[in-house]
Amino acid sequence: MVHTHIVLISVPFQGVINPIFQFAKNLKRMGVKVTILSSVSAQNRMAKASSSTPDGLTFVSFSDGYDDGVKLSDNLEQFRSENKLRGSKALSELIKARSEEGFPVTGVVYPMLLPWAAEVAREFNLPSAPLWIQPATIFALYFHYFNGYGDLIKKICDDPSCAIELPGLGKLTSRDLPTFMLPSNTFSFGLPGFKEQLDALDAEVNPKILVNTIDALESKALRAIGKHNLIAIGPLVPSAFLDGKDPSDNAFGGDLLQKSRNYVEWLDSKPQSSIVYISFGSFFNLPLKEMEEIAHGLLESNRPFLWVLRALADGEKQEDKLSCKEKLEKQGLIVPWCSQVEVLSHPSVGCFVTHCGWNSTLESLVLGIPVVCLPQFTDQPTNAKLLEDEFKTGLRATKNDEGIVEGDEIKRCIELVMGDGEIGEEIRKNAEKWKYLAKEAVKEGGSSHKNLRAFVDEIEDGF
Ligand code: UDP
Repeated sequence: MVHTHIVLISVPFQGVINPIFQFAKNLKRMGVKVTILSSVSAQNRMAKASSSTPDGLTFVSFSDGYDDGVKLSDNLEQFRSENKLRGSKALSELIKARSEEGFPVTGVVYPMLLPWAAEVAREFNLPSAPLWIQPATIFALYFHYFNGYGDLIKKICDDPSCAIELPGLGKLTSRDLPTFMLPSNTFSFGLPGFKEQLDALDAEVNPKILVNTIDALESKALRAIGKHNLIAIGPLVPSAFLDGKDPSDNAFGGDLLQKSRNYVEWLDSKPQSSIVYISFGSFFNLPLKEMEEIAHGLLESNRPFLWVLRALADGEKQEDKLSCKEKLEKQGLIVPWCSQVEVLSHPSVGCFVTHCGWNSTLESLVLGIPVVCLPQFTDQPTNAKLLEDEFKTGLRATKNDEGIVEGDEIKRCIELVMGDGEIGEEIRKNAEKWKYLAKEAVKEGGSSHKNLRAFVDEIEDGF
């Protein structure tokens, strides 16, 4: 019998590496052999950050032409095209080599927006599926945009007071849309990239899209599109925080930045649920003006905080630019990088001020932490809407007329979320509910566990 052997493709972004690695570990636990194909830059950065990649997985790297890493300021369109060219070649060579060595590849899973991986899999007659690492709601929104609702969506972009309801999704205004849909969008690849992926899925006989979510979170959105089979297999978060069966699986294992170690002791020294944790993910840096507002909000709230401020590309520390750095350092701790899941699972953390990346969103739910949402771009505004209106575990801070969230507003939201009032109590109750439901989904027989098992069985049967 041929052993199930899945190749997972990764790209050098932390927000992709984390769910891909977790997915790999979950497959391995089901007895699947997994090989991860990723870029030289990601491998080099992981080695430099002393990340110990998860045991029992095989890693193969290829040069995507950006061996020093890709930055937000690079031409991302150019990056995608190089990645496609070089990635396709590397995947073909890997499939041929493994076959000759007697470990034939039996399926390919790739992050959405890399449809070239499906083309290569088809050439070798292998089943493949994309892993969608944003909410099902975003997939459904993009799908609707290209299937009859594009003009309606454009209409709400022109009139912020106008709301629409699309199949499987709640009421939406322009404030709730992913920024790729807005006229102000400056990234040319967003919507066209999704369309390219949709067209590629149309070429499949029985397209399946694996989604990093859970049925209970997005049951309507998962079923909003009759044509495609969206399969919830999330939340892709280290299992120690979920079923707890494998305490050693307590980190994603693929950090591109070196973790600071001084925060654990500091967290230990603080009272339960007292700390505000602030992070804007792995990619985006806030303009100084907005960082100053956050600093102001934190100082006014007078609560201890842990703030992740990554060093800039030239090594400069972002906190050195803040006018009130000294006062901040008396009240809280600023670190360049941490294990976010370790921080969110610490009993002293009571609130997460987040940019609402989907991984951060899921991690807040799995760990039962209330949030204050400061979404920036891509899917984050939609995720913030989900957190506030659907999951009801936080508040979305309101921007002023200049499009900036002021310090007083941040303080107001932190106080409501962490305070003793009705709003805070309700939010904390909901956060506990999702923590429980996330665990239910991944346990033996839970919805995501069953969905993944069925997917693996289908790969074994060749779809
Ligand atoms: N993260 C981390 N340490 C930090 C900041 C972020 O480990 O100091 C992780 C976080 O747990 C999440 C990922 O980086 O898994 C960020 O992904 P997300 O989708 O939230 O945002 P992105 O970086 O893609 O904007």
